[in-house]
Amino acid sequence: MAAKTIADLDLQGRRVFIRVDFNVPLTPAGGVSDATRIRESLPTITHAIERGARVVLASHLGRPKGRIKPELSLLPVAAYLAEALARDVVLADEPAGDGAKKVVCDLRDGGVAMLENLRFSPGEEANDENFSRALASYADVYINDAFGTAHRAHASTVGMAKYVSSRGMGFLMDREATQLAKLVGEVARPFVAIIGGAKVSDKIGLLESLLGRADAVCLGGAMANTFLCAKGGSMGGSLVESSKLPLARAFLAKAESMGARIILPRDLVVAEDVKAESGTVVAAMHVPDHSAAFDIGPETASEIASIVARARTVFWNGPMGVFEAQPFAAGTQAVAKAMALVMGGTTVVGGGDSVAAVHRAGVASSITHISTGGGASLEFIEGKKLPGLAALES
Ligand code: ADP
Ligand code: MG
Repeated sequence: MAAKTIADLDLQGRRVFIRVDFNVPLTPAGGVSDATRIRESLPTITHAIERGARVVLASHLGRPKGRIKPELSLLPVAAYLAEALARDVVLADEPAGDGAKKVVCDLRDGGVAMLENLRFSPGEEANDENFSRALASYADVYINDAFGTAHRAHASTVGMAKYVSSRGMGFLMDREATQLAKLVGEVARPFVAIIGGAKVSDKIGLLESLLGRADAVCLGGAMANTFLCAKGGSMGGSLVESSKLPLARAFLAKAESMGARIILPRDLVVAEDVKAESGTVVAAMHVPDHSAAFDIGPETASEIASIVARARTVFWNGPMGVFEAQPFAAGTQAVAKAMALVMGGTTVVGGGDSVAAVHRAGVASSITHISTGGGASLEFIEGKKLPGLAALES
């Protein structure tokens, strides 16, 4: 059966365990430097508080690898949250054990407690049974709102779920699952995918899965260099993954045999160095020896924009160039703006850098869905069943 959402469940007076993704970047002084992920889960937390739940929050932070690392304590996150909610948030001194048990026991209706960084325990990433049972012992209701870790089978995302009879998605998880589902199965056509970014290896699974599903796949960014090289292009000093050339060739051959439309850059912006003050436009297969490609060229950008303009569904992951540097940001900006102009269709952006580019282009509010999960959104769109979502089905 499909997963319920927190809105379907009885919360009053019950211990509601919410797995959130509070894996936020910290400042050198140990404060929260970007609270987007905390804000994204506020509707779920507030809903539980308003329904009189005893709220138990749990998250990981960074990569402590099963050991207690004081610099990765959730203390700054609890402090930020307390301010945002204008109420006390009691932080347990451990993810599980007597201290955690006491903090949960002391909760009153409408109160909020937080467990310490889940990954301080080796049981979290190992999806250990004892750790899963310990977490479940703090829960009458289990809610997962951590979409960013839904592709991982850990104790807090999978292991504990079966020990809690009442379970469901938080509002953020529900929104991600509903919006991303529009890109899987019956998709409104034309369906266009734009895939860029740094590495072919990160995204080859996604690319293969798009063959036969997408009406057009546009490639840009450093990953396009590898495909251009595979087709015999001279790429100069551009970033090319030589070890992935056979993979790229096999992909292009498969696409051709299936009649799938793959759009590779026809022009590129090159420079001798990424720190250059400006770039030069060259034909895509002819990057000069002492230059490297750092962006798609204007002809490619307008070709992609016109394909996007006719689409009913667009998915974008991975910038078209080194958009962090102003001389190489135009291709990425053009894609962001083209997506924002799609009327009456579904536009979805996933991936940390692509999402940042959409914000930088100032068009975030014109995009149907901006996914909060990088790896999780790619696996979802590949058609894989995310373990964290599967565990919520009843
Ligand atoms: P996302 O986070 O959206 O999934 P990736 O992490 O895969 O995207 O890729 C983003 C990175 O790729 C950026 O840091 C960008 O500078 C880099 N990149 C894009 N195009 C190029 C290029 N032509 N040469 C070098 N780096 C590139
Ligand atoms: Mg990235």
